[in-house]
Amino acid sequence: MSVKVSGAAERFMRYVQIDTQSDPNSVSFPSTSKQLNLSHLLVEELKAFGIQDAHVDAHGYVMATIPANTNASTPVICFCAHVDTAPDCSGTGVRPILHEQYTGAPIVLPDDPQQMISTDQYPYLKNFIGKSIITASGKTLLGADDKAGVAIIMEFAKRLSVNTSIAHGPIKILFTPDEEVGRGTEHLDIQKLGADFAYTLDGGELGCFEMETFSADALTLYIDGVIAHPGAAKGVMQNAIKIAASIIEALPKDELSPESTEGRMGFVHPNHISGGAESATIECLVRDFDTKNLAKHAQRVLEIAQQVIQSNPAYHKASVRMEVKEQYRNMREIIDQYPHIMDRALAAYKKAGIEPIVEPIRGGTDGSRMSFMGLPTPNIFTGMQAIHSKHEWIGVEDMEKAVEVLVNLVEIN
Ligand SMILES: [Zn+2]
Repeated sequence: MSVKVSGAAERFMRYVQIDTQSDPNSVSFPSTSKQLNLSHLLVEELKAFGIQDAHVDAHGYVMATIPANTNASTPVICFCAHVDTAPDCSGTGVRPILHEQYTGAPIVLPDDPQQMISTDQYPYLKNFIGKSIITASGKTLLGADDKAGVAIIMEFAKRLSVNTSIAHGPIKILFTPDEEVGRGTEHLDIQKLGADFAYTLDGGELGCFEMETFSADALTLYIDGVIAHPGAAKGVMQNAIKIAASIIEALPKDELSPESTEGRMGFVHPNHISGGAESATIECLVRDFDTKNLAKHAQRVLEIAQQVIQSNPAYHKASVRMEVKEQYRNMREIIDQYPHIMDRALAAYKKAGIEPIVEPIRGGTDGSRMSFMGLPTPNIFTGMQAIHSKHEWIGVEDMEKAVEVLVNLVEIN
């Protein structure tokens, strides 16, 4: 393949070929040791840029410091991306394809012609007609989430090492494992990192700036029925599976569910059910941008469950109990206390000629957890599109623009 790319895109095309898929069923950390293959390569490259303290720590985090090159008093800013790719779709044997001067026609992925990427399905693709995009080849995801972020930060570090006329304060670089399985910050040593605030490079289209995530709880309903031999169960058995089914059927459908909400609306999402006739368990995700609504949603679920039992004489001896565990909180609660973190980023966008789009994320990021660990961490765009799928693609220009934003963000004028 004659690859005519340079900069962030050239790095990106190399990094995506390294399989770094994380594993939700693993109990080790990182969840898969193959993630370290990329982490070690990144350290080698950072050292080659002259960043002497670059290292992979005992838990698999890459940390590095670009020292200040001025005496100006400035905050220590960290840039962060995750090395792992999502378990939803294969990450083995990724074959990135560069499409130069994209014509606007549907792109058929060669390794599986059923996989087609079109402007009908992805209107954002129209912005890249005449420009370069990168796709996978049809059998795997691409891994732009989040190797785009990794490549952008690496290219930024390279640029500072080459162009020493860019005056800047101390900069920290952080590459985490296991973001996709919700464990990216599990062993992160924020003290050791030593930054005042951070930005993740893990966002989508050009101009996106995200400083707001869901607040998230995990809710579990434990249903106890009454067991009996099915041959002698008349008037005795109260089947926990049937009660669980009735509860799920009674949950809201036209509101408060993922299928019926968007924007700033919250939801309850039953995502796992298990058990037998004697007892059953329903697990739900509870999400809202306003943390105090989580308890209201949970209370509503419990009342629905109790109502199902109380309204049916056949279930009167059954019982239901609820347990709620905190997962993460809307990082806006923290970031709002430090408006300069957003102001600095948006000024950097504007200097690069990019109109900022500030929108909440209907999900969480490593940044949500890092913000509550004491490191306020909003999220910057990378250009990644159709993530976690075989259609995943990215525009080369978006990655380059993100590099420019990072340079603007640290540069002292
Ligand atoms: Zn990501």
